[in-house]
Amino acid sequence: MTKLAFTRPQLDYGDNIMRTVYVNGEYLPENEATISIFDRGFLMADGVYEVTSVLDGKLIDFEGHFVRLQRSLNELDMAEPISRDALLEVHRKLVADNSIVEGLVYLQITRGAPADRDFVFPSEDTPATIVLFTQNKPGLADSPAAKKGMKIISIEDVRWGRRDIKTVQLLYPSMGKMMAKKAGADDAWMVQDGHVTEGTSNNAYFIKGNAIVTRPTSNDILNGITRAAVLRFAAEAQMKVEERLFTIEEAQAADEAFITSASTFVMPVVEIDGVALGDGTPGPLAARLREIYLEESRKAAI
Ligand code: PMP
Repeated sequence: MTKLAFTRPQLDYGDNIMRTVYVNGEYLPENEATISIFDRGFLMADGVYEVTSVLDGKLIDFEGHFVRLQRSLNELDMAEPISRDALLEVHRKLVADNSIVEGLVYLQITRGAPADRDFVFPSEDTPATIVLFTQNKPGLADSPAAKKGMKIISIEDVRWGRRDIKTVQLLYPSMGKMMAKKAGADDAWMVQDGHVTEGTSNNAYFIKGNAIVTRPTSNDILNGITRAAVLRFAAEAQMKVEERLFTIEEAQAADEAFITSASTFVMPVVEIDGVALGDGTPGPLAARLREIYLEESRKAAI
């Protein structure tokens, strides 16, 4: 009798490719990967995640994502269940086995699956749940959206007060993206006490003259790995970086605006709450920052 072999995914850019995924030490076809219904990630959003992009089959800023992961775990009193080297190996194996040239690796670590549902944290010998999978995104770097620019709406920021921890509590960001979609826009910027915090899944910036303005890091926003890199490149390119609070009105009156995230890099914003920025097309400085970011990131990728 012939045994059905698990075939490697093909690079045919189709949507229904069977991936190899990683769950708690095992590499499995995605339809054989399971976690417990008692997993605290599932029951309580008690988990953290990272998204690392892949260009030319290599990982962009793996170190930055790993350091932030350590911090997120630490802030939630979760032990580090896997070493940096072991995690890098899992990332690389998934990228290779799934033939990812451009795309991303998603990583999630939860406080594991105790014997029962309980608000109290389980004992420390409860193993964490570790899940990683890839998403194939051909054309990620040469995205048409980067040439078109994004339309943004503003919404109130009603998330919890520790947005610096990258938890899997993504219901409100998900609702924010749906609000944007309903309004015919591409994404939403969130506003707290009259000031922009960040985008639903990205950091927010505007450019006026030669200055880039973005909110300083604090518990109110996620300290973006892409943000840190882009601000460094901007300073190297002699642009002025101002980390301060700003309003939607200020951003609407700007020359340009943009967002950053690991999966979108630098993406221009052309409209905020129905007001076009400049002539309503992506600005030159955001485009330049995207170019520099992609170039430098490819060079440093591992
Ligand atoms: N803010 C939020 C709320 C996010 O979800 C993300 C992306 N995960 C970012 C900012 C950007 O972070 P990074 O550049 O590390 O992807």
